[in-house]
Amino acid sequence: MKQKKPPIKPRSKECAFCKAKVEPQWSDVERLKEYLSARSKIMTSKFTGVCVKHQKRLAVAVKRARHLALIPFTTQE
Ligand SMILES: [Zn+2]
Repeated sequence: MKQKKPPIKPRSKECAFCKAKVEPQWSDVERLKEYLSARSKIMTSKFTGVCVKHQKRLAVAVKRARHLALIPFTTQE
């Protein structure tokens, strides 16, 4: 099955959250959106370079933001 791939930025070596010393928060919508694909799915840490600890917290933050309708569950194309 062929799928359109979203443009992928080269993976950073260091986790952006560790580097900035911040935790992923549901209120930080602009930052969360950087980790969503074109279809508003959460990107894997393989592409974003986020560490395991922050990837888990990021997923929770995105889900909370979705529940509060800050981020869409899916984007229609
Ligand atoms: Zn981290």
